[in-house]
Amino acid sequence: MAGRATDRMVNRLMKTYGGRAAPVVAMLLACVLALSSCASGAGTMGGGVGEAASGGAAGAAADTATDSAAPYEDVGFAMGTVVNQTIYMRGESVTPAAVAAEIIGILEGVESKWLSWRVGDSDIAAINRAAGTGVPARVADETAAYIDDALRIAEDSGGAFDPTIGKLSRLWDFDSGKNEIPDSAEIKRLTKDVGYAGIRLNGRSVLLEKASGIDLGAAGKGIGCDEIEAYLSGVEGVRGALVNVGGSSILAYGEKGTGEPWKVAVLDPRDAAGFLGAVSLDGTHHVSTSGDYERYFETGGKRYHHILDPKTGYPADSGLMSVTVVAKNGLGCDALSTACFVLGYEKSLPLLAKHGAEGIFVDTDRRVFLTDGIKDRFTLMADGYDLANGGGIQ
Ligand code: ADP
Ligand code: MG
Repeated sequence: MAGRATDRMVNRLMKTYGGRAAPVVAMLLACVLALSSCASGAGTMGGGVGEAASGGAAGAAADTATDSAAPYEDVGFAMGTVVNQTIYMRGESVTPAAVAAEIIGILEGVESKWLSWRVGDSDIAAINRAAGTGVPARVADETAAYIDDALRIAEDSGGAFDPTIGKLSRLWDFDSGKNEIPDSAEIKRLTKDVGYAGIRLNGRSVLLEKASGIDLGAAGKGIGCDEIEAYLSGVEGVRGALVNVGGSSILAYGEKGTGEPWKVAVLDPRDAAGFLGAVSLDGTHHVSTSGDYERYFETGGKRYHHILDPKTGYPADSGLMSVTVVAKNGLGCDALSTACFVLGYEKSLPLLAKHGAEGIFVDTDRRVFLTDGIKDRFTLMADGYDLANGGGIQ
């Protein structure tokens, strides 16, 4: 499908050209995206969710818009992935191109200043360097706040989402393409040090008691969406925006120029070219998806994917192929989708209820389970799936 194939192509481009020739990458990227969106016949790109194409038409957001309500479309690259933006303006106090560029800059800043374990002077890298030494790292207020929020979801999920999974996720290294199951003794050794209770957060000082590592990858795109929402709420000229970060985290902000609800697509976890369905949302919401199809390899007839069970150190095996969470907050939405994927449908219900979030669960028998609050907002579009617990506007 366009999104995942595109992501892979983009990754290759980035590996080939890296930071040396960013303009070349941007240009190639634009070509790749233009082609892939035509080829797929759908208006979405990037992997997990996107603007749903009502009636299957590409760029559906613009289909019914009058000229004055027509959105500005932008495709960029940040946080290691493709970022699609659809922006509806009001007035001319700022240009949409400037807004789109600012949004890309926000995502880049979130990654490089605070979250990346790869960037040497990011806060997370500093915390990880000091892990197990007993010396706390001093981080930005923002990083401390993110860790605090992440800890709450770790606690509420009983450690299904655990930000101290860093060394394990690097051991599995799904991004490398080497596609090997790591040594079981090594998995066991690193799993012993995983545990969010070992994070000591005191104001801006963060200490990792054990020699583990923080990985906020499961919440990073959601954090990016929170920062974008905060920015957009201060920009008078923006009426609404749909920002799709890599397909797996989406911010639907404000309202479309047409006044219709946002239609956010949920991808079919087993059909790279199709949508599972669409969620209809009024006003600002966050939508995040975690799936076993994003980064994985197969060996011995078994799928090994990038969402790990912190208790076993192995890919989570709760009978799900994907979980999409709809929430009012980006970090929470993203972290909850990962937690729910680990927990499975039943055990996720109290967690989602506690956070005022809704979920769409797809199990390996192709049954789709919806939480009560989303039943009349989700339309199942794909063949071969059943709505297991009722609901759905057909
Ligand atoms: P994506 O990054 O594809 O959007 P997720 O939001 O589910 O998907 O995040 C998955 C990433 O989070 C993994 O690549 C890994 O870095 C990290 N991770 C994997 N399992 C867990 C877990 N149980 N708790 C916290 N982080 C995790
Ligand atoms: Mg997540």
